[in-house]
Amino acid sequence: MAKVKVIDLSLCQGCRGCQVACKQWNQLPAITEEEGLNKGSYENPPDLSAKTWNLVRFHEFLNSDGSVQFTFFPDACRHCPEPFCMQYCPVEGAITKDPDTGAVVIHSELCGDCCGECVAQCPYGIPKLETSMDDDGAVTTYYRAHKCKLCNDRVTGSVGGDNTVAAGQDQTALGVLPSTAIEAVPACAKTCPAGAIQFIDESLLTNTNTYPGTGYSAQWILNRSAEDLGLTPATMADAQPSKIEPHDRRSALAGLLKPLGIGMPKDDKRKG
Ligand code: SF4
Ligand code: SF4
Ligand code: SF4
Repeated sequence: MAKVKVIDLSLCQGCRGCQVACKQWNQLPAITEEEGLNKGSYENPPDLSAKTWNLVRFHEFLNSDGSVQFTFFPDACRHCPEPFCMQYCPVEGAITKDPDTGAVVIHSELCGDCCGECVAQCPYGIPKLETSMDDDGAVTTYYRAHKCKLCNDRVTGSVGGDNTVAAGQDQTALGVLPSTAIEAVPACAKTCPAGAIQFIDESLLTNTNTYPGTGYSAQWILNRSAEDLGLTPATMADAQPSKIEPHDRRSALAGLLKPLGIGMPKDDKRKG
């Protein structure tokens, strides 16, 4: 059964848990102090990179009463139905799309210091080239691209192939199922405390076929609630049984932000 990664932005609380879980699962290195310099926003680092495949975007705007409101968006590869990155890549096999999971995977080791064409063609600015910085701040770019793999190693249990899980790690402890069945969930979905990221059977989204960009895609960005789209809370809970009550977390966070004059988006804003 094909699975779909669904993000319900109305539930995201900007905690960056998914950003951290992505780094941890994929064993991505820490960014340097220079790379993480704050640019006047809570968003950090300032962009996706070869070291950061999932970045929680923070959008801040003023309400009419002068209070600041945040919206959050965990930004990563959309795993497009017909990926431009793959279509324009000149290296055979360097970018593949898994027919079962829909995951679009860059096999960076095959890039061969090629061209960075996927970076130029992706409409969402997702793939990034490897860089390094010397002590004087000079940046060297390597033409090897990196991005989210939809945790295809976790999801399919195919660790040990081209993937990034180190040999010798305890796959069971890490949540990887030792089978080819698509049973595990991406690390970001597994960790999200708000239930904003779900990994569910594609068939559960049949009611959303009028949604823009329809067609098979392994990731859907849903700026509407699951209920609005005909996905009942019970259905979502069945797909991801370990979730806590998201609205309890939401209330708690709102309580923390209120003394600072920062408002949370109201639930009813997503309706209609
Ligand atoms: S873990 Fe969930 S709530 Fe936290 S930033 Fe990511 S999507 Fe949002
Ligand atoms: S890298 Fe860009 S074009 Fe390729 S699948 Fe991801 S979002 Fe689509
Ligand atoms: S699916 Fe995996 S690789 Fe992609 S953003 Fe989530 S944790 Fe990172």
